[in-house]
Amino acid sequence: MTTDKLVFVDLETTGANPAVDRITEIGVVEVDHSGEATHWSTLVNPEQPIPAFIQSLTGISNDMVRKAPTFAELATSLHERLEGALFIAHNARFDYGFLRNAFDQFGLSFKPDVLCTVKLSRALFPHERRHNLDTLVARHQLKADVRHRALADADLLWQLWQKLRSDLPSETFDAALRSLLQRPSLPSHLPTNAVDNISDTPGVYLFYGENELPLYVGKSVRLRQRVLSHFNADHKEYKEMRLSQQLHRIEVRETAGEIGALLLEARLIKDLQPVHNRLLRRQGDLCAWQLNENEQGHIVPVLTHASEQDFGRAERLFGLFSGKRKADAALRALAESHQLCLVQLGLERRSGPQKPCFNWQLKRCNGVCVGKESESFHRARLEAALAKLRIETWPYEGAIGLIEQGADRTDVHVVNNWCFLGTARSEDEVHDLLEQSPSRPAFDLDTYKILHRALANKQLPVRLLHRQHN
Ligand SMILES: [Zn+2]
Repeated sequence: MTTDKLVFVDLETTGANPAVDRITEIGVVEVDHSGEATHWSTLVNPEQPIPAFIQSLTGISNDMVRKAPTFAELATSLHERLEGALFIAHNARFDYGFLRNAFDQFGLSFKPDVLCTVKLSRALFPHERRHNLDTLVARHQLKADVRHRALADADLLWQLWQKLRSDLPSETFDAALRSLLQRPSLPSHLPTNAVDNISDTPGVYLFYGENELPLYVGKSVRLRQRVLSHFNADHKEYKEMRLSQQLHRIEVRETAGEIGALLLEARLIKDLQPVHNRLLRRQGDLCAWQLNENEQGHIVPVLTHASEQDFGRAERLFGLFSGKRKADAALRALAESHQLCLVQLGLERRSGPQKPCFNWQLKRCNGVCVGKESESFHRARLEAALAKLRIETWPYEGAIGLIEQGADRTDVHVVNNWCFLGTARSEDEVHDLLEQSPSRPAFDLDTYKILHRALANKQLPVRLLHRQHN
C-alpha cells in the first residue's frame, strides 16, 4: 500500500450520471496513521434542481442546499483533505468518478489509490451473493443512524473496515487489499491513460523506449494482466525496474488465441530485436545434422546450415542447434551415451590406417572402426540415437491455414514449410499473404517449435491453401 492515511467517502448527488448530475452532499471520515478518525461533511449547492425522487431518497431538499457552498468554493480545501490518502468508498467508481470530474473542472488532478468496499467484501466473502451496504450493515452488525446521508454512510464504511480488521486474520485482510489495489503506479514516462484501453484478450504487447526504441516484446492470453504485472511493485526486480524506467509507449496487438500470440511474438522479436528480449533474441547460425552419404559410401552426419538450405523442405535433419559448437557437443554426447564411433561420425580423425578410434581403447565404442561392428548396424544405432532430434519434414503439399477461434474474432495463421507467413482475417488477406510470401521464407526455430507442437497436438483445425500463381 502506498499510503497510510485513509479517507472513507460518500457522496449524495442529483442523479447517477457524473457528466450531467451534481454533488449535493459530501461525507468524509479521515483516518490518520494512528487510527484517529475525523468526521467531516458538508451540503453542496448543486446549482441545479434535485429531482423529487432523489429528494425523498436522501432527505436532501432543494431548500437545504440553497445556502450551502458550491463545489467551486469547496474544491481547493476538499482536494487538500483527500490528497495523498487511500480513497475508500462503496461502489467507489461512482464517488471517485463524480469527484474526479468535479475537480477536473477546476484544473485539479485527482488520482488517488481507490478501494471499493463492494469489491473488498466480495474478495473476503466470495460465497456471499449480496454486498450492498444494507446487507453489510446487517451481516456485520454495523450501527446505522441515518442511511443515505453522506457522513452516516461514510461512517458505516469506517465501521466496516474496523470490523473486518478485527474479525479476520490480518494476512487474509491484507492479501485482499493488496490484490484490489493492484493498480500499480505506471512507469513515469508513460501517459496516465497508457493502459486504459488494454483488454484481457490474447495478444502481443510491445514496449518502446525513447525515440521508439523497441525494448521488449511479450505475449499473453490475458494482455492487460500481463502488461500490468510488469509494473507490479511486488516483484520489481532490477531488470523489470530498468524496463519500467525506459518505457515510453505501449502498443498491443490482439490475437484470437494463444498460437497466434506465440507466432506473432516470435516474429516481432526477430524483426525488432528488442533490447530486453535477450534470451529469445539470437538465432545465431542455425544448423542441424543431416545424414548424408560420404565418398566412401558411408552414411554420416553432416552439419548443414539454415542459410544453405530450406529446413522446412530438407529431409533427414536432426537438431536444431544455434551454432557448430552446440551441434558438435550434442553429437558427442549422443556418441558417448550410445557407444558410437567418433571416427565413423567424422568427429575424430583416424590416427593411422586401420587404427581404432580413441574410445575403442576405453571400451566406449562398439568397434565399427576396427570391423567389430557392421557399418549398417552402427548406422541403425546412430539413427535410433538421433531419432529424438529429428526435424519433421513439412507434412503438407503447400501452405496451410491454422484456424484459431477467439471470443470475438477468428484468425487464420498462414503457414508454409514451417514458416509463418502472417495472420489473416479474411479470404482476401489469406490471398495477399500467399501472394506476398517470399519463395523461401527464413526458417525460424521458435516458429518451428510452436507450429510443430500445434500440429502434433492437433491444437487448431487445418485448412489446405493453394497458391493462386506459382
Ligand atoms: Zn570407434
